[in-house]
Amino acid sequence: MAQRPRRTSRSQAREEALAAAAVVRVPARCDVAVVGGGAAGLAAAVAAAESGASVVVLERGLACGRTILATGNGRCNFMNSALCGPAPAWERYNDPAFVAATCGAGFGEEVLGFFEDCGLAWAEEDGGRLYPLSRQASSVREVLLARAARSGVVLAPAREVTDVSMSRHEVRIRPHFEADFPSKRGLMYTSLVYAAGGGEETARSLGLSCAAFEPVLCSLACAAPAGVALGELDGRRAHVVARLVRDGREVARDVGEVLFRGYGLSGIVVFDLSRHARPGDVVSLDLTCGLDRERARELAGAAGSCAGVLDPVIAGALGQDALDQALDLRFVVQGPAEPERAQVTRGGLLTGQFDPATLEARERPGLFACGEALNVDGACGGFNLAWAWKSGLVAGRAAAGRRAAGNEAERA
Ligand SMILES: Cc1cc2nc3c(=O)[nH]c(=O)nc-3n(C[C@H](O)[C@H](O)[C@H](O)COP(=O)(O)OP(=O)(O)OC[C@H]3O[C@@H](n4cnc5c(N)ncnc54)[C@H](O)[C@@H]3O)c2cc1C
Repeated sequence: MAQRPRRTSRSQAREEALAAAAVVRVPARCDVAVVGGGAAGLAAAVAAAESGASVVVLERGLACGRTILATGNGRCNFMNSALCGPAPAWERYNDPAFVAATCGAGFGEEVLGFFEDCGLAWAEEDGGRLYPLSRQASSVREVLLARAARSGVVLAPAREVTDVSMSRHEVRIRPHFEADFPSKRGLMYTSLVYAAGGGEETARSLGLSCAAFEPVLCSLACAAPAGVALGELDGRRAHVVARLVRDGREVARDVGEVLFRGYGLSGIVVFDLSRHARPGDVVSLDLTCGLDRERARELAGAAGSCAGVLDPVIAGALGQDALDQALDLRFVVQGPAEPERAQVTRGGLLTGQFDPATLEARERPGLFACGEALNVDGACGGFNLAWAWKSGLVAGRAAAGRRAAGNEAERA
């Protein structure tokens, strides 16, 4: 009889991962240290190593690339085709000018070329969303880790960086692992790529200005329209036109799926609206998804109810004048809901402090930043990962270039 594979408990898996991390030798000196082994950090590390630099990635978690696994519901919507072509959709970012200056024309093509060279196949779904052909986020992670290994990057998990000090010529880091202290001087590198995502403490320790962190791409806590019991709708989904209205003016609009929750609204369209929403704004839903009003009424007349136009459960919760309500169902925003489950943290290092062409801090030569650590966020649909990859490539190459410049100066 075939033997069942041995199951490991969580604590056992953790111990094994820690033991594997402990045997990684962190080089005391090398050209580029990348802080954070997520999407942007791995792209930066590969780009720096392939430009000839020696590279170490210091990652707080027990393995690199784990954040990628949770994306796109485990399927990883890693890019959006709207970023390809002569006019990439810069407007899908909070800071279009900075993103355009960093990514330039050919943004999407470069990201796709990078993944093609990694050996990834992909497929396009609605709204230009690109997923790995396998529809498994682990495909994206595996091909990245393999490329990092091939290019000689040292991946050092279980290394949280809490203390960074910089002089004109080098960066000094004190990670937590005792074994990583060959001398009291800590670890010394020529350049540092800060790719630690949307966290607060270390970003502030870099001595640069940060915008306050806040969750975006999240559900919204809302007050329901009078007479509508949100509890009855909890878990129902509908395809809608959703508008965010402030003082009677439309601030944002999207078409897609909404998920009703007991506390308010969720689903991809709501995630997108949450990037612009403030308490007191109104989310207006057209549950007929733009169907002509007269036509909707005719169909309801023919059916003797609005069951042919609306989800009957939702229609039942809306009561007598369900169809009229469904054309403009108004929820008042109270604030973000479940912020710990937000897809993106807005805030972080202010972009004005960085040269957009290299992502090097103007006042801190040798310090580069990329990904969500910078105050850049994008819409749902692959725009955030696209920024993480491309900004990582830009920062990684530029960080490696600094080493080359240093070598030339030494030779001269
Ligand atoms: C549930 C979920 C689903 C998502 N789905 C999508 C999607 O489908 N498409 C899309 O485009 N975007 C998606 N996003 C957003 C996307 O994941 C992020 O924009 C992207 O991961 C940012 O990449 P990053 O490398 O900047 O940060 P991260 O991926 O967060 O990586 C940062 C890394 O730094 C490490 N770190 C932090 N602090 C330290 C420290 N002090 N020392 C050492 N290491 C440190 C962290 O452990 C982490 O590994 C999703 C986000 C979430 C949460």
